[in-house]
Amino acid sequence: GMTRTPLIAGNWKMNLDHLQAVALVQKLHWSLKDADHDFDSVDVTVFPPFTDLRSVQTLLDADKIPFGLGAQDLSVHDSGAYTGEISGAFLSKLNVGSVIIGHSERREYHAEDDQVVAAKTQAALKHGLVPVICVGETSEDLEKFGASAVPVGQLEVALENVPADAEIVVAYEPVWAIGSGQAATPEQAQEVCQKLRDVIRAKLGDDAADKTRVLYGGSVKSENIASFMREPDIDGALVGGGSLKVDEFSAIVRFKN
Ligand code: PEP
Repeated sequence: GMTRTPLIAGNWKMNLDHLQAVALVQKLHWSLKDADHDFDSVDVTVFPPFTDLRSVQTLLDADKIPFGLGAQDLSVHDSGAYTGEISGAFLSKLNVGSVIIGHSERREYHAEDDQVVAAKTQAALKHGLVPVICVGETSEDLEKFGASAVPVGQLEVALENVPADAEIVVAYEPVWAIGSGQAATPEQAQEVCQKLRDVIRAKLGDDAADKTRVLYGGSVKSENIASFMREPDIDGALVGGGSLKVDEFSAIVRFKN
């Protein structure tokens, strides 16, 4: 989108301990500086495991590295007897700015349904975190319903009770494209991202639809990022595997070059 600052988001999943995390962020920063990257032209956010957040936050702060910091999940609760859970309140205290919600791996392995995704979206907003709401169809969904019906339905539920002026990010991630090396075509991703923007418009209004960044995710690489970024309704990428390699992620961030 012309008026929206692109966002390149790195979802590290369950990779990199806190020492490796600090090393990667430092090297990524050096790589971008060496390449004379214009840091204002693209927002970069990294989503490390919970146990890395404090170390990465300290590094970003100390070295004035202009990356956003995000978490990969949060609890629907604020605090209490929920062993193993992490509250949005704790995340915002660590200067975490955003949180991935409803990633397909959470939906699949932790049985997160659309209601849980909606509740986590509310929890994120309550604690001042930008929810990065992930939606996408499985290959079975694609065969039965086409590409857009399932992600559109997922987003409609997630946006229930979201205020029109809330900052959110939406990520379209076809499940069959995640980690498969088989990215969607830019045309197909654009078609779904446009429909997701229509959902934002219907639920939250014109301002929200024009401001909200809609990302594509699923086997994004340095070789295909530019083709996605050319599409009018794709404002960035959620990158899994490609975010773990310094040179590759640096090249993705520099998609304009
Ligand atoms: C993801 O996990 O959000 C993702 C898009 O993974 P990958 O880039 O590895 O396909």
